Amino acid sequence: MSIKYEKKDVYSTMEEQDLENTNLYAKSYMEFLDKARTEYLAVEEAIEILENNGFISIEEKDYLEPGDRIYFVNKSKSLYVAVIGNDDIVKGVNIVGAHIDSPRLDIKPMPLIEKSGTALMKTQYYGGIKKYQWLSIPLAMYGVMYNKDGEKIKIAIGEDENDPVFTIADLLPHLAKDQMNHKAESFVDPEKMSVIVGSLKDKDSTESEKVKQNILRLLNEKYGVEEIDFARSEISFVPALKTKFIGLDRGLIGGYGQDDRVCAYATIRAIIDSADELGESISKTNIAMIVDKEEIGSIGTTSMNSRAFDMFVNKIIEKTNSLGVDKLEVYYNSRVLSADVTAGINPEYEEVHDIQNGSMIGCGISVEKYTGSGGKYSASDANASYMSEVMSLFDRNNVIYQVGTLGKIEKGGGGTIAYILADKGCEVVDCGTPVLAMHSPFEVTSKYDVYMTYLAYKAFYKD
Ligand code: MN
Ligand code: MN
Repeated sequence: MSIKYEKKDVYSTMEEQDLENTNLYAKSYMEFLDKARTEYLAVEEAIEILENNGFISIEEKDYLEPGDRIYFVNKSKSLYVAVIGNDDIVKGVNIVGAHIDSPRLDIKPMPLIEKSGTALMKTQYYGGIKKYQWLSIPLAMYGVMYNKDGEKIKIAIGEDENDPVFTIADLLPHLAKDQMNHKAESFVDPEKMSVIVGSLKDKDSTESEKVKQNILRLLNEKYGVEEIDFARSEISFVPALKTKFIGLDRGLIGGYGQDDRVCAYATIRAIIDSADELGESISKTNIAMIVDKEEIGSIGTTSMNSRAFDMFVNKIIEKTNSLGVDKLEVYYNSRVLSADVTAGINPEYEEVHDIQNGSMIGCGISVEKYTGSGGKYSASDANASYMSEVMSLFDRNNVIYQVGTLGKIEKGGGGTIAYILADKGCEVVDCGTPVLAMHSPFEVTSKYDVYMTYLAYKAFYKD
């Protein structure tokens, strides 16, 4: 047996049954990804899966007993889930936390304009994107809107076979001489990232902007909304691209929003399946959460920083009759997997990765001791003792993992929700699926890493 550390490629180690399980899991994940296009929809989809597996809203329960399966929805955009354990809660809980917001183009509060025969919606990008990747691709429109009577209207256009799509028309190369001389960072003016939503005039209108007027008329007929109602909406454009297998050997998955819905889906499936497998013997309380606003710094009511999570833990303390238990002590004794994706080594950009300390596609879930940038600035740095605990746990359960960092020092950097839970006093380590082309409209993962991510979280909940 070699004492040298070497990455293992998951596929080559798998038996027939594992390969089949991987394909089944990948298929259900891809279906989830195609539906969970926004944080709203990710929450809806997750609730449907949870309710089909015996989970109910915590509000429906006055008392909680071991084995109870509950969830709490925080303002439609983040979700906390728990399976109650037999152990006293003060001994700590197991938490896996992922995020469900992904980079996209949000509309401005007053988005609709008319220019040169087209109706356009002005956008503001959400999260860190390379702007040029979002030009001249099909886009779908998703979101919620309220009318003046306060009724909520759901919008989903562009994914159905018969739906139209939308697009930002990039400049043709023939006239792009000036544009092409700019640096990639600045050649796309964010104020020009307007999405074409129409081109036909309202012939009967007496208004000056007849194309814009026609779009307003169509929206009014279909949804009963007026222009001012955009100010009470959250509407986003996301890539209208179906999730697909990549490669002749179908080993990879390509799709929008895998950061971080790949870990979010694994978290939800793992808390359900671990509860089924543990039954009444569950010892610690397990918690899963899928939260919003990670991509813009975890700020706001539906982010990990929201005190709504503390409120959820308070409710569990109350309803399990653990009154008098200090929530801070619960956190102090708890352990967390911060379930977020990381950079896979890009085959054509190996130079930005530290290969030995990078995550290779297909070599399992990546455990990252620390994130941050430069001199570990803003890093959540896991304790060695906790690294040891998690690595032993994975070894015992045949979870194939690799140790990684995001990339070479000072080439960039990034963070996750890990530091927020670390601040509460929990033991935390980052642990998620490697991704190529992260934050692009078509992110790439290995289906074997995707499946291993689920196995890792399930093993953690069952430990
Ligand atoms: Mn992420
Ligand atoms: Mn991200």
